[in-house]
Amino acid sequence: MTEIDYYEILEVSRSCNGSELKKSYRKLAMKYHPDRNPDDQEAEEKFKALSEAYEVLKDEKKRSIYDQYGKAGLDGRGMGGGFGGGQNMDDIMDMFNSMFGGATGGFGGRQQRRESNQKYNLDFEMEFPLKFHEAVFGCDKEINIKYKVSCDDCGGTGAEDGKLETCDYCNGQGQVVMKQGFMSFAQPCPKCHGEGQKIASSCGSCSGRGYHEEPETITINIPAGVDTGNRLRAAGHGNQSKSGTRGDLYLTFNVEQDEHFVRDGNNVYIEVPVFFTQAVLGQSITIPCLDGELELDLKVGTKDKAQFAFRDEGIADVHGHGKGQLVAQVKIVYPKKLNDEQKELLVKLQETFGVESKPHTSKFDATFSKVTDWFKSRKED
Ligand SMILES: [Zn+2]
Ligand SMILES: [Zn+2]
Repeated sequence: MTEIDYYEILEVSRSCNGSELKKSYRKLAMKYHPDRNPDDQEAEEKFKALSEAYEVLKDEKKRSIYDQYGKAGLDGRGMGGGFGGGQNMDDIMDMFNSMFGGATGGFGGRQQRRESNQKYNLDFEMEFPLKFHEAVFGCDKEINIKYKVSCDDCGGTGAEDGKLETCDYCNGQGQVVMKQGFMSFAQPCPKCHGEGQKIASSCGSCSGRGYHEEPETITINIPAGVDTGNRLRAAGHGNQSKSGTRGDLYLTFNVEQDEHFVRDGNNVYIEVPVFFTQAVLGQSITIPCLDGELELDLKVGTKDKAQFAFRDEGIADVHGHGKGQLVAQVKIVYPKKLNDEQKELLVKLQETFGVESKPHTSKFDATFSKVTDWFKSRKED
């Protein structure tokens, strides 16, 4: 049996410090987290190995023993602790959750519930797409899910008639003892993954998976104001245990963007095209808001990109803390072409402001003379 180096497992150098170690562990543990890799035995093993490696390397004493004697040194001194043989997934989850708590993007805080000898978690997670308005106003949505039910024919074991035979590699011990030099240490059996038993022949009913999938149609009440990344628990709609209880289903929302409204938390932004004459005249215009329309009073000479905020016209806070605001941003629109009449009118208008249509310098006279002075002074230097 090959023994993979703890530093290699955690993808860190031998000289790494505690925070580098923690950072790398967190990154990798998130990647191989059983929540993200349901029914993936390989990912689970990897997750376990990461925890085992981290448990040792984060402890200065254990780390120095490991550096000197390798894993054998730890086992020999009885410091292998809960790792090795019957490594308990719950303990690993506890360690992971207590380390990273709620900061893991929703993975923390929740215990993975799993009955012994069960081949799947009772809780599972699904991504849930929503239209912009569905998220803003909330809605009832009917969805089709598939949940796991323990296979009756094999009692959830995955073995035909539930018949398991003693693992011949470890003689049912679940672990194998390795000798390295003068020390011996225990490793989980690679053939039965520490269970001590193996399937004689696969259950024909579930193809050895130990469960069936049942379709279910459920109606989910989505509260107003949910946003991408928010998670909703549908209690009792998870997978079913052997004893018949159901876990929970977690829905993670993914909200589509709107064509006109741009969302930022509970605030929404909208760009309002305003014809240049309206901006100059300061007219009142009608703009769309989330639930209808609003009057926007433009001041005389409103500038491009001017913003107007409307309180409580934004999105309802999903936790009930009021509403955000709607921000309307002006985009001044100019005509691309002018007919003769329009041209004539605009020239006349311009003249009433005392602006001449001929080469016009009066406004810049001061600037021109300033620039000339600069050059003069440079020559004099
Ligand atoms: Zn075995
Ligand atoms: Zn079966």
